[in-house]
Amino acid sequence: MEHTQHFLTRSACYQAGRTIVPKGIMVHATGVAQPDPEVFLRLWDSPQADACVHALVHQGGVIQTLPWTHRAWHAGTPRNGGVSANNTHIAFEILEPKGHTYQGGTMIGYDAEANAAYFAAVYQNAVELAAELCRQFSLDPATDIVDHQEGSRLDIASSHADVMHWFPRHGKSMDTFRADVARLLEGEKEDTMEQSTFDAMLEAALARRAAGLEGREVSGWAGDAWRAAVAAGLFDGTKPQAPLTREQAAVVLERLGLLREQ
Ligand SMILES: [Zn+2]
Repeated sequence: MEHTQHFLTRSACYQAGRTIVPKGIMVHATGVAQPDPEVFLRLWDSPQADACVHALVHQGGVIQTLPWTHRAWHAGTPRNGGVSANNTHIAFEILEPKGHTYQGGTMIGYDAEANAAYFAAVYQNAVELAAELCRQFSLDPATDIVDHQEGSRLDIASSHADVMHWFPRHGKSMDTFRADVARLLEGEKEDTMEQSTFDAMLEAALARRAAGLEGREVSGWAGDAWRAAVAAGLFDGTKPQAPLTREQAAVVLERLGLLREQ
């Protein structure tokens, strides 16, 4: 995923210079059929801009548009007097593909099949960005990530439908999103497992396997040979299927008289 930076330094939001301590992430979609991030950079990197987020998620990657701890303008005014997520949440906008229109907040003429690859790309980029932010700010993906619509229900944002006006067209939801972020963070933990932990797990697995083999009876096809070998004093008759070590092999050769000098 390409990760670039273009801070919206000309916007009044940037110039206000207010900061936040991030307590969560709010996921937005732009609500307009415009996949080109340059259009939003032109629109929002301006003194007239009335919206301002921390990042744009597009098909090719992520453009960070504000320092993460800068206060953004994305959540609007909650209807019932709640505290706006502008004061608490890092926000990014996922750009929508071209081709559809809107009627009262509903996508019209949206071709989910044609947009499947586009959606998969922006969804994955958004998951990766959210995971990165969770790691950086010690956020819990299960509880600290909401979309604008959920923010509205929590009375920390204005009444908007994003992103759940769109995600279900591709079988996704905010629950799948949170789960995918959590899964990515878990995977990273496994990747960075301490070598000593790995060694201990490997040792335990090998010991379990050895114990399993040691408990097995002699195989039918080897029975006669095994009993003859035990009768000849080459083996003590226990653990017929346990692995043979080099030192045990040496002792067997010795017992067979194969190591004595002529
Ligand atoms: Zn929104």
